[in-house]
Amino acid sequence: METETLDLSALLQHAADPGAADSAAHETILVAQPVLPPLEDLLPSLREIWDSKVLTNGGPFHQRFETALSEYLGVEHISLFTNCTIGLVTALQAMDIQGEVITSPYSFVATAHALLWNRITPKFVDIDPHTLNIDPERIEAAITPSTSAIMAIHCYGHPCDVEAIERIARKHGLKVIYDAAHAFGVRLPTGNLLKHGDLSVLSFHATKVFNTFEGGAIVSPDARTKTYVDQLKNFGFVDDVTVVTPGINGKMSEFNAALGLLQLKDVDKAIQRRRDIDRRYRERLSAVHGIHCVGFSGESNANHAYFPILVRPGYALSRDGLYHALREQGVLVRRYFHPLISSFPMYSHLASSCEENLPRATEAASQVICLPIHPALRDDQVDRVVDLIASAGRRQ
Ligand SMILES: *Cc1c(COP(=O)(O)O)cnc(C)c1O
Repeated sequence: METETLDLSALLQHAADPGAADSAAHETILVAQPVLPPLEDLLPSLREIWDSKVLTNGGPFHQRFETALSEYLGVEHISLFTNCTIGLVTALQAMDIQGEVITSPYSFVATAHALLWNRITPKFVDIDPHTLNIDPERIEAAITPSTSAIMAIHCYGHPCDVEAIERIARKHGLKVIYDAAHAFGVRLPTGNLLKHGDLSVLSFHATKVFNTFEGGAIVSPDARTKTYVDQLKNFGFVDDVTVVTPGINGKMSEFNAALGLLQLKDVDKAIQRRRDIDRRYRERLSAVHGIHCVGFSGESNANHAYFPILVRPGYALSRDGLYHALREQGVLVRRYFHPLISSFPMYSHLASSCEENLPRATEAASQVICLPIHPALRDDQVDRVVDLIASAGRRQ
């Protein structure tokens, strides 16, 4: 089983030991690589933190980053978090969600784990085969008297059908929480994606489009909700002697906030480079029989967080055949999201986890490979990945 943690350590190892004697032709190509500002640019902020000795608890960098982020994202009410997972756990608490929650099995495992941490039972619903997001047409059939919310994922940064989801939620009196871990900077033609639902939760983890090493945020619809979320992430304190709720410690530190402030300056450029890579992959892969690129080109509002392909039966190798062929050549692709969350032991006993309930998610998990995409990836590396996929498909 691959996990985010394992993959990141492999990634860091390669960064420390670039190439590891690989020849140029066999240069290792990473699936993701974090963007960092020049270290010198961070030093003045570090000096300020060292001088003030204010390290956390909503200090000046926290305040500045929160303001800058709300401006960048175009949302009024945002709360910084130590990571997205604690944000998801807190979001469910903030909305007082209980019983059953409808969600997608095709996501990173943290989505469902946040439910278990709240003693909520996930109810898995199949995905739309085109977007790989939860299929709104299948949600209503999964609603029971115990259902209290829908937790949907903007998978790979591709927006969910937010209108359809919210229509169903309104009709049945359900809350909607979006796991927006992939959706940093994604915009809808009709407005702001992050303004949909009751809450949206972002991740600033090292492997995401925008990183603060570790970090996350909750977007709230109004000041009152933000205040409650802020209390929940600070042990439930409302002032230094009053605790109103059993909150957690979800605060972002001054270091992460100072880094985030710097990172915001370059994120547009990074997304633009991702867009160019996305276009190059799509153009070149269109000639390879049996390889389907998820999403579509010219998504001007996308963030190109991932480049998932589906290895269809028309291709000469199986998905795992191609996966191993690429990794042997030093192209460190990932099968992301495989296995499905519903197949992990803490979920597999649920009735909604059975494969017959999730045929499209099962198929996608058996066909998907995420190709390398990050701002430092060069055009010749993109071409090498495409050439390897094309030649592996011809070889059989
Ligand atoms: C990365 C990720 C998370 C967890 O984010 P952290 O900031 O690492 O806690 C949650 N959901 C999805 C879909 C993710 O990809």
